[in-house]
Formats: sequence, structure tokens, C-alpha cells
Amino acid sequence: MSCVFCNEPRSAGEVLFEDDRVLVILHEDWAVRGHAMVVWKAHIENVADLTIDEYAHFAAAHHRAERALLDATGADRAILLKLGIATPHLHLHVYPVSASLDRAAVMEIIDGRVRDAFDQALIDELRERLA
Ligand SMILES: [Zn+2]
Repeated sequence: MSCVFCNEPRSAGEVLFEDDRVLVILHEDWAVRGHAMVVWKAHIENVADLTIDEYAHFAAAHHRAERALLDATGADRAILLKLGIATPHLHLHVYPVSASLDRAAVMEIIDGRVRDAFDQALIDELRERLA
């Protein structure tokens, strides 16, 4: 099976942070500034496949990434999404959005029907915050 996170995680976007177990990748779609993914490196599908210690590591990476994403974008709400339909390898999408957005606007972002401008300065800032 061909899995982007096993084979070419850097093709999924800009790697912001990496350790021995997780990656934080800024998604290439720019559906909203700061759309990122927390990716478990080993190929498993669900949080339930992790040990509790592994999940604590994943959750800590998510916590750090979410704080950095909210601070760097000025967004006040983190929308979280785990699907696994296209890529059944554990990854959690984080979408930093304005709390003023309604459900329809959030769904447009999740469906990738909108696009923000590529911003290298944001990438640099996020790498610095997560270093
Ligand atoms: Zn995989």
C-alpha cells in the first residue's frame, strides 16, 4: 500500500517540527492560514492503536502545535479533524479559524473550497515557535 506519511511525508506540506515519533506538517492546501497536521510516524490508523504513553506524546505534540498555530495566526479557535479516508495513517488536522466563522464557512475550509495565500514568513515563525 502506498502511504504518503510512510513514504514521502515532506510531500504533504512544510515540516514544522519533527521528533522520533511525530511530525507537525503545515498542509499544502492553505485552506486557512496555519492548516496543519499532527502525524504519528508509525503507520497506525487510530488513537486507540497507541499505548497510553504514546498517546500522551501525540497529545503533547498536538498541544504545542495548536498553541503555536493560534498564536502565530491570531486565530481564536482550533477546529480539529481526523478522517483517514484518503490516508488511513493517524494524523490530526488542526485548522486555526476565527471564532466568528459559522459552520458553513468552516466546512468550506475543511473541504478545501477556499484558499489563503502562501506565506513563507508564517512557516518560518511556526518553525521557530516549535523549535
Ligand atoms: Zn502510513
